[in-house]
Amino acid sequence: MKTRLIPALIFFLFISTASISQNAAQDSTMLKKLYTTALSDGKAYDWLDYLSNQIGGRLSGSFEAERAVKYTEAELKELGLDKVWLQPVMVPKWTRGFKEYAYIESPSGEKTVTNILALGGSVPTPNLGIKAEVVEVHNFEELASLGRQKIEGKIVFFNRPMQPDLIHTGHAYGGASNQRYSGAAEATKYGAIGVLVRSLSLKNDSAPHTGAMSYGDTPESKRIPAAAISTKDADYLSGLLKLEPQLQFYFKQNCKIWDDVLSYNVIGEITGTTYPDKYMVVGGHLDSWDVGDGAHDDGAGVTQSMEVLRLFKKLNYKPKHSIRVVLFMNEENGLRGGLKYAEEAKRKNETHVFALESDSGGFTPRGFSLETDDANLAQIRSWAPLFEPYLIHLFDEGYSGADIRPMKGNINVLAGLQPDSQRYFDIHHSANDTFEQINKRELELGAATMASLMYLMDTYGAK
Ligand SMILES: [Zn+2]
Repeated sequence: MKTRLIPALIFFLFISTASISQNAAQDSTMLKKLYTTALSDGKAYDWLDYLSNQIGGRLSGSFEAERAVKYTEAELKELGLDKVWLQPVMVPKWTRGFKEYAYIESPSGEKTVTNILALGGSVPTPNLGIKAEVVEVHNFEELASLGRQKIEGKIVFFNRPMQPDLIHTGHAYGGASNQRYSGAAEATKYGAIGVLVRSLSLKNDSAPHTGAMSYGDTPESKRIPAAAISTKDADYLSGLLKLEPQLQFYFKQNCKIWDDVLSYNVIGEITGTTYPDKYMVVGGHLDSWDVGDGAHDDGAGVTQSMEVLRLFKKLNYKPKHSIRVVLFMNEENGLRGGLKYAEEAKRKNETHVFALESDSGGFTPRGFSLETDDANLAQIRSWAPLFEPYLIHLFDEGYSGADIRPMKGNINVLAGLQPDSQRYFDIHHSANDTFEQINKRELELGAATMASLMYLMDTYGAK
């Protein structure tokens, strides 16, 4: 019995090893094709040029956001996908209005103009602006310890810098962002009349960085204006406060919150040959902040995601699963698009097995951050050698992407493209997030890296 089994076992081992190496050869050929096509005949850069330079900043509810919907819908239709459609979603509309104005006034009356930007969702200042003494704090505990006695009637200045020693700058951003998001709501508790937040950037320059904020459950009548101040001006203000604690800060901002308006997620699909009812999603967010042109955040992710489906069509790859590109609306100040997509997927009982988002800038890709279980993590990590020629090496567990996360719990694998993060927060949410900051090859390498993971997930399926 035993002796008869051995030759069979050897035969089986031979066949399975042969088929594994044959698969590996096929996969490596396919990856090579994806990278070659993206780098020598790519479309992402041209799309991004149009989105950035012809359309520009695409804040939810703006004319530019609507143009971006129409443009990307038309471009997806050009690709000959099986379906392209718009998914309606109501989004918040907030406008900045006339440019903000701010200065520091010394006790002797000397004024120094500073660079600020209203935070997204902030209320305006009264027409004449506000002027008050400034209290610098670094966290909510410090704010609470000062209490109403020290805070009432003042402007609270949150000045905790992003931690410079963290290699993943996204972690440094995460560690500092509660000041921007909840600073106003916290300061209101102690009677503050306005909030200034140090820009979430590791660069020392004059460009303020905006971003979303929330008043939480603060009643409308108690909401106070909130603005980001550039890192350079934050350092200057902090230094001056040590010399002249009685100085005053003036700012005026003209933003407005409107009623919600109708907008859309833009969706395209290549229907699967074997599992048409199992969906894999690749996407980024179509909206951006208003001050730059949103090239990195997240025009890059949008055009890289479109490129994934274009590469498959171009190489005549027919996926087993239905593959969707989803261009989400309103990530920046509401996440309504991501929430709507997940809600509709659930309502229609669609089975989603994989989603991949690119929303960390269009810089040189390093790998992926993954939210999944051990079996899927092991499978994805087993593909690492296929990515080696392209210098892709990160297959970390971690945060995937804001727009796809609402699907968590109803999906096997969530993944985020991890580009090099060292320069991202220098420009993120500022007037410097422009097309000039995009490197064509880095953008294309990102698209090919995403297409490669999508191809492997489609070929081997999620566990
Ligand atoms: Zn983004």
